[in-house]
Amino acid sequence: MNDSGIEQADAELLPEVYAGHCLCGAIRVYVRGPLAPMVYCHCRQCRRTAGAPFLAVLPVAPEAFTLEDPQRLLGEFRASPDKARCFCTRCGAPVLSRRDGVPVVRVRAGLFDDLAGVTHGGHIFAASAAPWDDITDGLARYPELEPGRATAPTS
Ligand SMILES: [Zn+2]
Ligand SMILES: [Zn+2]
Repeated sequence: MNDSGIEQADAELLPEVYAGHCLCGAIRVYVRGPLAPMVYCHCRQCRRTAGAPFLAVLPVAPEAFTLEDPQRLLGEFRASPDKARCFCTRCGAPVLSRRDGVPVVRVRAGLFDDLAGVTHGGHIFAASAAPWDDITDGLARYPELEPGRATAPTS
């Protein structure tokens, strides 16, 4: 029950907009819910850009995504010719990736403190995981892309 006396469903208690930012705070990102399942990408490119065994990624439709970069610090690197990996050129934090011609942006989940209500879609490119990377949780593992994503490689 809230002040109006109307009982709220659980979904209505979730934030409408999730706010995140890079390490230095110059680049801010906003994602409007509901959130798509988060995936953990173990591909070689994501590992290296994250400096970690995997990158946690939130796929976000363009209409649900806002980026604020008033100092124009967002830079990009293309490990694949048609895919931009965007990061803060001041603090180095990975921010998102996007593929030419694909509207969905793949936002780095570590930018957010609060992702209440997010679900976990599983591990992708598990076949490319580092030999020292033991995936020990019970989430689904996919050798490459998660089911339902037709377009090519990597997060
Ligand atoms: Zn930054
Ligand atoms: Zn990847």
